[in-house]
Amino acid sequence: MKQYKVVEKFVSINGEGRLAGQLAIFIRLAGCNLNCSYCDTKWANEKDVAFELMTSKEIYEYIKSTGVRNITLTGGEPLMQEGILELLKELSKDEKLSLEIETNGSISLKEFQVIKENPPKFTMDYKLQSSNMEDKMDVDNFTYLKTEDTVKFVVGNMDDLNRAKAIIDEYKLTSKANVYLSPVFGQIDLEDMVDFIKDNKMNGVTLQLQLHKVIWSPEKRGV
Ligand code: SF4
Repeated sequence: MKQYKVVEKFVSINGEGRLAGQLAIFIRLAGCNLNCSYCDTKWANEKDVAFELMTSKEIYEYIKSTGVRNITLTGGEPLMQEGILELLKELSKDEKLSLEIETNGSISLKEFQVIKENPPKFTMDYKLQSSNMEDKMDVDNFTYLKTEDTVKFVVGNMDDLNRAKAIIDEYKLTSKANVYLSPVFGQIDLEDMVDFIKDNKMNGVTLQLQLHKVIWSPEKRGV
């Protein structure tokens, strides 16, 4: 049976996304294929990070033991774990659970479309210029988006904001999925972001602050 590298698992509230503020179980898997300039979970991507090897059955049993129904599978980049499709299929079988995957936009979502019943919802980042990772984005992923999925633009400066608008318009993203603009914590003036959204009449776009960084210290883990 496959085992997955779990570096953190805990119950908290969702800090972002469609279910922001709602209770959720976080399963953080080790490793990432990108190296974003503003990464706040670099520790989880280090080669020597401590992890617990868990089978899909053990992960499911942990989830059920918490009594919480929302699951956020995150990283690192969770979709680069070997055998991840198997884990997603297992967790999707339980109709009482709602599975959300936070993915960095560089991994194809194509193979995950085979899950038709209670499919996972994807929150896909689009990494902009200030991340230094924009050339790794897989824009084919926009063709797989469903209305319950989310595209999140992590915005570090006004150039990023302009670029986000261009991508949203080019791929008509607001008609396909939820679209969020998420400021890099402490790097861009929030009032400027609101003015930009107003000036450009960005209907259907949501400005999102990372709740967990407001509630707890921005560096705090396990929350
Ligand atoms: S994709 Fe996410 S986890 Fe990976 S380096 Fe970028 S911010 Fe960090």
